[in-house]
Amino acid sequence: MGDDFNALLTKVAAHLAERDATLDTLPVTPTLEAVHAAVAALPPALPQTGLGTGQTLDYLLSSVLPGCLTAQNGPRYFGFVTGGVTPAAQLADILGSGYDENVQVTLEDTSAATAVEARALEMVLDLLEIPRDTYAGRTVTTGATASNILGLACAREALYAASPHTAPGYSYAASGPPSNMPSPPIVVLGIHPHWSIKKAAALVGLGNGPTVFHSLPADPEDELDIDLPALRGRLVAERAVGRGVILTYGLGEVNTGGFGRRLPEVAELCRQHGAWLHVDAAFGGFAGAVPALRHLVKGMDMADSLTLDGHKWLNVPYDCGLFFTRSAHALPSFLGPSAANTPAYLAAAEATIPSPLTVNIENSRRFRALPLFASLLALGKDGYADIVQRNVAFARRVAAHIAAHPKYELVNRSPAWLVNDVPVPLNIVLFRGAPGTRFDPHGADAHSRLTAAINGTRRVYVSGTQWGGTGAVRLAVSNWRTGEDDFDVVCAVLDEVMA
Ligand SMILES: *Cc1c(COP(=O)(O)O)cnc(C)c1O
Repeated sequence: MGDDFNALLTKVAAHLAERDATLDTLPVTPTLEAVHAAVAALPPALPQTGLGTGQTLDYLLSSVLPGCLTAQNGPRYFGFVTGGVTPAAQLADILGSGYDENVQVTLEDTSAATAVEARALEMVLDLLEIPRDTYAGRTVTTGATASNILGLACAREALYAASPHTAPGYSYAASGPPSNMPSPPIVVLGIHPHWSIKKAAALVGLGNGPTVFHSLPADPEDELDIDLPALRGRLVAERAVGRGVILTYGLGEVNTGGFGRRLPEVAELCRQHGAWLHVDAAFGGFAGAVPALRHLVKGMDMADSLTLDGHKWLNVPYDCGLFFTRSAHALPSFLGPSAANTPAYLAAAEATIPSPLTVNIENSRRFRALPLFASLLALGKDGYADIVQRNVAFARRVAAHIAAHPKYELVNRSPAWLVNDVPVPLNIVLFRGAPGTRFDPHGADAHSRLTAAINGTRRVYVSGTQWGGTGAVRLAVSNWRTGEDDFDVVCAVLDEVMA
């Protein structure tokens, strides 16, 4: 206590300003020594007498943060798909913490917060040119995993309610598993699903083992898409025994950034056969922000439920995800309290905007829509289209460089992905060392060694992955800051690690 909050706030602001000015040149990761030093300097236990705010802040700045990821939101962190944070989003996030509003209930005469959230969700649909009434059920979540959980939960409710083995309108949420269902009662089908779909299936009580979760055969001409005749056959067979089907479709495959092209046909089949279509477009959905790339996400408006991430390509801070479903009632029917149990403070607020706690996993929740709203407003449609376009152009430029490099091989190679002869449809480049180099791909751990060598420079950060039975280095571009100079750094690092 007694610390001068104003002075400390100025200190934090100065630190963030300095960081912002140097982020382009900061090493992407801390040294091993810095990480170990930060861990070693952790207090062994809760102090009896606290350090006070000023001393704690000094300790964070001098001891803790130097041992954490120094520039994950910088321009050359190409691991996973992380995005960065736009200036408007960063400032709004600081303000959101300062106000610390608990955005869980719509109180129309008391706070505009849920109206801000609702408008932010509408603006995301505007960005992707999806008519707002396509997805009347919407909420801001903690990320794509939470959105996938909601999607599978909506699917579960809808499939049990429509099952020939249950009474009409049966609710799993209300009554638990019914007794007279085929085993398993619902299967989850997909191709190359993101791992979080399996997590979601386990959490909502569907199961995620081999009897429930089935990989569909790939289209013989497109390894990223589902074989349609096989899907049709499967849907017919499951319907004949009254088993529910959830089809999960990844729009933007996470290893390759590639897209199948048959989502509209898949959606039509699901509709015909009563299957629930959940589209996970966490990062790839934002191809819809760019007219020249929009064909990649054709059918994104045909899902029963849709996942998008805010903290990836929208470049807003962790954590922020988006969930959309067709019906405004799909969520409140099982997440909200039933009328009889509705607490008075909710009953009083029969609002046009549903209270977030009735459509979301959480009850109490931060005002995470504020940075999203601010960033959308600051950049507009053109600003976001520009980020996506520049990131994709950067990835394609790196891919062309690698394809022409005698010591590297591009692994994005499926002819189905070729867009105007560019093998990288979006923002992810997969590559490995060429035969005969230090990282000859026949060595079992070659791609891990190559990933470690690149990351060891601390100037570029990439991830390792497996694709098509081979190990590969994965470089994903999703940060608004990534620019021309960064291309030169990537080229220099690629040469350096091969020398
Ligand atoms: C990142 C990602 C997820 C998981 O998202 P989180 O925001 O980390 O929860 C799910 N699906 C896809 C396709 C992703 O890229």
